[in-house]
Amino acid sequence: MEFTFLQKQTTRRDILRGSVTLAGSAFLAHLFPATLLHASAAGYAQQSPSQADLLAYMRDWFNTFPMETQKLADNVTMFDGPGGAVVVLNGPDGKFVVDSFVAPAWPRLKVALDGLGDAPVQYLIDSHWHFDHTDNNAHFRAAGATVLAHENTKKRMSEPHDLPVLLRAPDGALIGLHFDPSPAAALPQQTFSDSYKLQANGETLTLQHVAPAHTDTDIYVYFQNANVIQMADLFFNGMYPYIDPGTGGKITGLIAASDRILSLADNDTKIVAGHGPLGNKTDLMKARDMLVTSRDRVQKLKSEGKSALEAVAEKPFADLDPVWGRGIINGDQWVQIVYLTL
Ligand SMILES: [Zn+2]
Repeated sequence: MEFTFLQKQTTRRDILRGSVTLAGSAFLAHLFPATLLHASAAGYAQQSPSQADLLAYMRDWFNTFPMETQKLADNVTMFDGPGGAVVVLNGPDGKFVVDSFVAPAWPRLKVALDGLGDAPVQYLIDSHWHFDHTDNNAHFRAAGATVLAHENTKKRMSEPHDLPVLLRAPDGALIGLHFDPSPAAALPQQTFSDSYKLQANGETLTLQHVAPAHTDTDIYVYFQNANVIQMADLFFNGMYPYIDPGTGGKITGLIAASDRILSLADNDTKIVAGHGPLGNKTDLMKARDMLVTSRDRVQKLKSEGKSALEAVAEKPFADLDPVWGRGIINGDQWVQIVYLTL
């Protein structure tokens, strides 16, 4: 077997052109039993690219996204693009940054942060442990910032993870993506177990952990005066979300987190999604309703004794796919994610 897709994609334009294939399959990993994953990986043992190559490829793919700047309040700015959304509170007390993109996006992020003024970054807050949100922790630490996160983020980053398969070869076989423990210099220096408050630049930031949802490390960040809630990967705006069963993700938790934010938000609240455009309460309500419908339909199939692949064959989301299935996760993947995280 040949891994022709990766071998042929040599230019940036080719990578971009191939991005739908990669995106659509990027998070298949969790969806299949470990035995199938290992069998597929074994099949590629001779000719597959190394794990380092695969991870580099994934980072490069995220980095093909343009970075867009949006002001959310006088002193709150969002940079959106290469691996989620970065939000910055800026002022005389320094910069307070949430999330950090993938590693190759660091030069662009640094220029953007420097463009906000000379004040140093005081804190970098990790919304959860995934690499597209924490990849530049070490750069922030080296620049003198304190990296702050939920205690589970530090725990997960300190462990090796075979992120249940992230890539699919052209013939559909699944390939796992291995993460070594992060180096000590990239770990959060400060952690908390439930919630944490920061006050600076006339703003109050509430960092709140939620019960396992997208992972077991998620927090949301509430910028009280600006009326901004950064949900990060607790909210994929306008597309099926990814839920990570390898580190504790649960669809019921994601629904509960959505309900919690809906009770906190008003009609003017700006809600920052981990992937997808800036949202509001109406957008989150739509996503929440889609989650409930998805859970109920797959639960019914599971209760009838159907396997994950049999559930996929039933096409339970045929009516939802035209709206929700055009992002990172397609309808078939979503059935399996829901099945595995119920
Ligand atoms: Zn994530």
